[in-house]
Formats: sequence, structure tokens, C-alpha cells
Amino acid sequence: MKQYLRQLPPIHELQKEERFERILANFAITKGQLTKFLQQEMGDLRQRILNNHIPNGFFNDGIEVVIFQHVEKRVEQWTLDRLTRVINGTGTVLHTNLGRSRLSEKAVRHVADVARNYSNLEYQVEAGKRGSRHDIIEDLLKEVTGAEAAMVVNNNAAAVFLVLSALAKEREVIVSRGQLVEIGGSFRVSSIMEESGAHLVEVGTTNKTHLFDYEKAVSEETAMIMKVHTSNFMTVGFTESVATEDLVALKNDRDVVFYEDLGSGSLFDFTAHGIGDEPAVKEVIGSGVDVISFSGDKLLGGPQAGIIAGKKDIVQKLKKHQLARVLRVDKMTFAALEQTLKSYVSEDSVTDELPTVRDVTRAAEDIRRQAEFFSDELQAQTSSYQVDIQESTSQVGGGTMPGVHLPTYIAAIHHAFLSAHELAAKLRAHTPVIVTRIQDERVCVDFRTIAEKEMKELIEGFSTISQRN
Ligand SMILES: *Cc1c(COP(=O)(O)O)cnc(C)c1O
Repeated sequence: MKQYLRQLPPIHELQKEERFERILANFAITKGQLTKFLQQEMGDLRQRILNNHIPNGFFNDGIEVVIFQHVEKRVEQWTLDRLTRVINGTGTVLHTNLGRSRLSEKAVRHVADVARNYSNLEYQVEAGKRGSRHDIIEDLLKEVTGAEAAMVVNNNAAAVFLVLSALAKEREVIVSRGQLVEIGGSFRVSSIMEESGAHLVEVGTTNKTHLFDYEKAVSEETAMIMKVHTSNFMTVGFTESVATEDLVALKNDRDVVFYEDLGSGSLFDFTAHGIGDEPAVKEVIGSGVDVISFSGDKLLGGPQAGIIAGKKDIVQKLKKHQLARVLRVDKMTFAALEQTLKSYVSEDSVTDELPTVRDVTRAAEDIRRQAEFFSDELQAQTSSYQVDIQESTSQVGGGTMPGVHLPTYIAAIHHAFLSAHELAAKLRAHTPVIVTRIQDERVCVDFRTIAEKEMKELIEGFSTISQRN
């Protein structure tokens, strides 16, 4: 093998090659990075030679050609976008792994405009002096929530942390055992409470908590009663929890803060469409809760954010807390949130403009038409697939509405010789990435989450895969 190793050109020779310069000119990488890829390639090549694998082309094309072909592949891989768009064929609308809510076109345009330019993020234009980012969209937030005051932080987990730290540090917070939830493995009410320095006082049992459980637990040490929306699971059967109104009466009587973590917090009446039983944010505020928080990118359909709304003195205290600076959001989030909230002026604009709300409320018949169109088009292009349109259900996702199964139609797809897992892997390797679900050894696409403008790419994706084989 020694004679092959001896024939390998040194790095500094390769760096002088015209091909080295060409890669530098064609790709957005530095000379240092390219040299590193060359070194890696040479290391691998030496190893392969030592293992008796002499690469094809060693003699015919010249080893430099082979090396640079391989290096170019490495560079291509490196320069690909890490964060990339995905066609979501799972039907799960708030797919946490796939980025939850898609933003409205209006929101995206506003983000681009604000990002590209200077803005009045912390500037009072009329007065010509310094302002606060907390004031930028507070009027909109007050309008949609019905609260006296509101603010925005990084996400709802941050909101929970801020509320507990600012209002209950070293004091007690009463929570029902039925509401000590864990969401997505990384957010646990009990852990966040511990981090915030508030002391958790658990009351009731997993399935039943009564008003008297709360009454007995309230003491001099109590700062807060906290209600947590059990977003991602259901307790069924012999269960009981205390109504918000009863807790409001109790907290008024004992002079403690009542905080409700709504999780998703919907501003749209999904129940009127027969979907779920999410509490409406306005109703919760109207019932007298002191402070609430909810996510911006769950049912609201906006950017990742945590919205806090409630009594003026409480929100004021939160805005002034040191953590508010730590947890603050940037101008792009405000821009996206502003336009998302503006879509809530009417039911029509909400369902027309916000992809999340539109997808959750889509009629099954509409989805069926899309599935049939896909099936017809694909089978017109290739005979590699067998496609069956089937009734199925989709999930809302994002830890919201766990008991809701939205009626939908899926295309169950069978490839002539690829297994479902092989086909799904090829779809994931496609650009744009196509994520599907596998059911009964079939690749299934649920069209609830496929936008009209993605249909062409989706069909092309399937059809190029069939041709490659
Ligand atoms: C989702 C959720 C959270 C966390 O919200 P993020 O915006 O994801 O940080 C907190 N509490 C409840 C009840 C939730 O459902």
C-alpha cells in the first residue's frame, strides 16, 4: 500500500490547484474551512488505502480529481441550510418538532420590513424620545384579551417563570395535584416552580381537587393560587377540579394572587366549530383572574412568544422585574405578533389569514378533494405508486386539545418496490423535505397541513423518487 500512499499529493500542493480556487469562488466558505475539508478527505483516503480500498479513478482520472470531487461533496453538504423548510404531511397542525405555527403572509412581510430597516422598537416617534418595547403592541394585546395590561416574553415557559419569580419568590403557590403537568419533557410545573424560588404547595389528588382543599391550604405564606391548563392529557372518569369562578371568590376573600397558565390560550372560538373545549382568553380574564399567560405559537397562530395579561399593577411589576430584560423578545417577534393579532378583527380574517386556525378548522371534504387531486396527478405521472384515499383523523398537536380527533382524509401510498420506511426516508432526503406518517406499512399523507402552493412540490417529490429507481 505504501506506493499508493506515497503518490498522494501534499495539502499545500492541492491548495495551489485551480480546483481549490474554483470551490472557493463557488461556495460561501473560507480558505481555512476548505483546507480542513481537504485534510479530512486526505485522512479518510489514507485510511481507505490502508484498508486496501483503492478508490476508482486513482489511475484513470488522477487522484486529484477524485479528491476534489469528494471535497466538493463535503462542501456542498456544509453549505446547505441547517434550518430548512419542511412539507408537513403528518396532519398535525402544531407539530412542535416542525416549528409549530406557520406565520401568516402579513406577519412574514411585516417581519421582513422591520428586520430590514430601523424601527421604533424603543422610540416614541411623536415625542422624539426613548420608549419601551413593552408599549409597542400592548394596546392590541389588551384589546384581544380584555385585560387591563399585557406584555410579551420569549415563550410561555418564560412567562410562567417570570410570574412565579416576580410574584411568589420564597412564598407559597398552591397548585392542584391534577395540574402538575409536564409538557414536551422540558417543561414541568414543579421544576419551574423550584427554579423560580417559589414553594409549591400541592393540594387534592390526581383525579379530584375540591374547593375546600384550596381553602385549607391558604395561609399567611401564600402568595398565589395557580391553575395550570392540563393541555396535553385528559383525566377522565371520576374527576373533579375547581371552577375558575370559585377560585376567584376564594382569592378575593384571602387576598392572594390568582394566576392561570392557559397553555395555548385561544382567541378564536374553536368550540363554535365543534372543536375542543379550550377556554377563551377573554372569558378567563372576564371571570376575574389576576394574571394569565399563554403561548404565541400554539392555537394563536403566531411567533414563539409568551403573552402575559392581567391586572395593571401586576403586569407593571412584571415589566419592572430584572428577568423581564432577560426574557424579552426581539423586534421580529413583535412584528409577527402584531400582524397575527390584527388578523383577529373578524372570524373571516382569522380563518383566511392564519394558517394554524385555517388548518384546525378545515372541512374534511376540502381535504378530501386535495387528496384526490394528489392521487390523480401522481398516478398520471408514474405507475410506481398505488394510492388509496382513506378516512382518518388528525391531531391539533403542540400539547393542545389532546382528546380532539379532527376528521380528515389521507393518501395511503404504496411504492412498487420500496418499503414504507425506505420511501419515507427518501422523502425526508428530498428538497424540500417531506415528512409523512407511516401506518400499516404505508406512507400516509394527511392533507390538512399541506398548503395549496406545496402541492406541486409534493407531487414532484414523489414522482422524482419513483423515477430515480
Ligand atoms: C405549552 C405549554 C407551556 C409552555 O409554553 P411554550 O410557549 O412552549 O414555552 C406551558 N404551560 C402549558 C400549560 C402549556 O400547554
